[in-house]
Amino acid sequence: MDILEHFRHTDALLDGHFILSSGLHSANYLQCALALQQPTDAARFGQAIAEHYRDTDIDTVASPAIGGLLIGFAVASALGVRFIWTERQPGEMTVRRGFTLSAGERILAVEDVITTGGSTRECIAALESRGGRVIGAASIIDRSNGTADVGVARIALVEMDVPTYKPEACPLCASGDTAVKPGSR
Ligand SMILES: [Zn+2]
Repeated sequence: MDILEHFRHTDALLDGHFILSSGLHSANYLQCALALQQPTDAARFGQAIAEHYRDTDIDTVASPAIGGLLIGFAVASALGVRFIWTERQPGEMTVRRGFTLSAGERILAVEDVITTGGSTRECIAALESRGGRVIGAASIIDRSNGTADVGVARIALVEMDVPTYKPEACPLCASGDTAVKPGSR
């Protein structure tokens, strides 16, 4: 399975010249949800992540909502363990919905894309504040090219180096090309 090819095929990964929500420019735009529209595709990615943890004792998979929900569910399904999620309750990532954790419960945190690792770190903190023990973290894509530190051992199916530029320092702009907002075409 060529993951990036699937991402391009489903328009989840665009090549061009984009204005990101941060205002920075980039030659790539990633919208992971588009790659997971078909349940069979989500299941394949889930299976691929689960393969890394076949010999690891995991009680539960947990993901930060909303981005991590589909892939987290798929990984939990492949591992045959339960799935829960954390969500942002204005501002702070929390465990809601009546989910409970046992002391020392072994958890794998799963995201669709890791960029800085921020939401995974918040998810891990919320789970550990409830007594869970996060033993690893995984994502389909790692946009940090391996540099994001979430405080636990981490794997990704694909590592990408996606440079971003301030508009005034953007080489694509300098070449005379006009940046577009993703979805505007
Ligand atoms: Zn530009």
